[in-house]
Amino acid sequence: MIKVENLVKRYGTNYALNNVSFEIQSGEIVGLLGPNGAGKSTTMNILTGYLSSTSGAAYIDGINVFEDPMAAKKLIGFLPEQPPVYPDMTVLEYLNFVYELKGCKLEREAHLSEIMEVVKLTDVKKRLIRNLSKGYKQRVGIAQALVGDPKVVIFDEPTVGLDPKQILEVRNLLRTLAKRHTVILSTHILAEVQAVCERVLIINKGELIADDRTENLTRVIEDGYHYEIKVIGPQKDVQKTLSQSAGVKSVTPTGQKDAEAHCYLVESTSGVDVRKTLFSICASNNWPIIGLMPVGTDLETVFIKLVERSDGQATVNTSERKSAR
Ligand code: ADP
Ligand code: MG
Repeated sequence: MIKVENLVKRYGTNYALNNVSFEIQSGEIVGLLGPNGAGKSTTMNILTGYLSSTSGAAYIDGINVFEDPMAAKKLIGFLPEQPPVYPDMTVLEYLNFVYELKGCKLEREAHLSEIMEVVKLTDVKKRLIRNLSKGYKQRVGIAQALVGDPKVVIFDEPTVGLDPKQILEVRNLLRTLAKRHTVILSTHILAEVQAVCERVLIINKGELIADDRTENLTRVIEDGYHYEIKVIGPQKDVQKTLSQSAGVKSVTPTGQKDAEAHCYLVESTSGVDVRKTLFSICASNNWPIIGLMPVGTDLETVFIKLVERSDGQATVNTSERKSAR
């Protein structure tokens, strides 16, 4: 349904996208995950015909986005990073306006009513958009993308700026859309991809560094827990003893001190919770533990792990990319 081949976008000497390729099948819901500045919006803006590329090709349902942009755009509903809503229109006026703009042929009243039901806007359809909360404005943005029942919907950071409850609502909505559309959404939040997407494309500094099923990504992340532990005791002995304990993979002093205690990063082997072991060993040596905290997996850590993984047993996609260089 979507095919991107060797996409490059250069600004001066900077590469916003460097040789990005991927394919998305009909009915998939795929997350484009990466930190700020990774190239997510650039990818989406090129796919939707809002931005030209320096080189490479993009196809929507077999139609070349650069050669036949009008035909490609008809297949896409797009929610850009800044939703294009008109504050002085009511929700219904605005959706009618979008309907006209897209030259939509579906039975108007039924179609717009259905969209408003799906995104839960029916109750506010007569309200001015300017008076809606951020969460509702975002739903209006999603609604306009759905006008014309496009095969592909592309959402650029659809939950940014929403409160936690609104985020859950939008995520649920995105999941329901996937039944009918091919969905790509971008996000810099790992948990969002895990909650919503079947597949994840990870992009960093303009390069695609992973293309995998979300469950595989989750396995990589959860392979071994990390803890920060603060122990009062001779650093060398503590490090040596703890690193020889069952279930412990590595113990690395962080170089930081908290009062008399030295801080260490402890990595456990896959799937083992070593907290009790750490406690017993320190207690039997009379080394007080004054802090023990799980270290969450942030995007940075995931990137490091993925890069490590692709250096060893690479996924099909990463190995293809390597040999292509
Ligand atoms: P993301 O959406 O992942 O945060 P973007 O696609 O917006 O990232 O940006 C990717 C890179 O391209 C960034 O380094 C950004 O600074 C750069 N960039 C984006 N737009 C422009 C522009 N119009 N001129 C120059 N550089 C740009
Ligand atoms: Mg962006």
